[in-house]
Amino acid sequence: MMKPLTDSFGRVHDYIRISVTDRCNLRCVYCMPAEGMEFQPHDEIMTYEEIAAVLRVLAPMGVSKVRLTGGEPLVRKDLEKLVAMLSAIDGITDISLTTNGMFLPAKAALLKEAGLTRINISLDSLQQERYASITRGGDVHRVLEGIQAAYQAGLDPIKLNVVLMKDFNQDEIRDFVAMTLERPIHVRFIEYMPIGQSSDEWRRSYLPLSHVTDVCREAGWNVLEHEGPSGNGPSRNMKVEGAQGTFGLIHPVSDHFCDSCNRLRLTADGNIKACLYWSDELNVRRVAHDPAAIEDLFRKALGAKPKNHEMALALEKKDQSHTPTQRRMSQIGG
Ligand code: SAM
Ligand code: SF4
Repeated sequence: MMKPLTDSFGRVHDYIRISVTDRCNLRCVYCMPAEGMEFQPHDEIMTYEEIAAVLRVLAPMGVSKVRLTGGEPLVRKDLEKLVAMLSAIDGITDISLTTNGMFLPAKAALLKEAGLTRINISLDSLQQERYASITRGGDVHRVLEGIQAAYQAGLDPIKLNVVLMKDFNQDEIRDFVAMTLERPIHVRFIEYMPIGQSSDEWRRSYLPLSHVTDVCREAGWNVLEHEGPSGNGPSRNMKVEGAQGTFGLIHPVSDHFCDSCNRLRLTADGNIKACLYWSDELNVRRVAHDPAAIEDLFRKALGAKPKNHEMALALEKKDQSHTPTQRRMSQIGG
């Protein structure tokens, strides 16, 4: 194997999140504006061949885990073809997908067949009216059918991503944890992050996750620490005693996990982002035909990766050491 991808703090990077499109069938309030979002022209988006060419360079350097995200990755035509191309690369052992789930009834089996290992489905409310309001038009029943389709296709584990927001869905924590009692489902509560939206609005809705265990205690559930299902997430996992599934807490804001960060990001237009939060980017698309240049660019991006993000400083309205990104979450991929 070639020299691993290490940054200047000694963190080895073996995981890449690839946004395959900045477009989406929904408009979640914390991710995209209702109107006026400008999408990248098709000829500026990485082709499947270019993405595979980048991965063929990264795999021998130890990148073994890939997550496809977006925008909504399933609005990109024939995504299963990309999954098949990536799963054919030596050294890529894990291909996962983050999706809003609406297209899964049609796609789950094709994706599994192409080599997708597991899946994260984003669902912030189990109540139709709320779901439609936060996604600006989504249909929760289709997402629930999508979860069912993922089961039937044999995707395992299935994780649900739930972004917790004050006065919006905190009263559903109990309902989400209850889903894990009878089914092998893995709910991951995620702190709302200040990326690309007004910081006042974010501060109003941000909720630290310490709240979740209190709710379980009030429900009379005995909560045990648990190692959780396989996956590449930084979540602290737990389980209600006797439950089939687990739940986890991902707290990027209140207790960041930057010291153990192993992730790289590639935007749909081919920009390497060594950190989700900062504006630093290097474009790999223009050199996607040149393996040596791809390697150089990734090493350069990692060489400049800051030690940590500073979302907690943003919460306290304090000065930050670098410039936060201006991109929306839909353009970065979460
Ligand atoms: N469209 C797909 C989906 O919704 O799963 C993939 C892309 S979406 C940007 C990836 C993840 O980022 C989703 O789970 C979404 O809930 C999460 N996300 C978006 N904006 C966020 C924010 N401001 N804070 C925390 N999570 C966010
Ligand atoms: Fe689309 Fe996902 Fe963003 Fe919602 S969170 S607008 S589904 S990209």
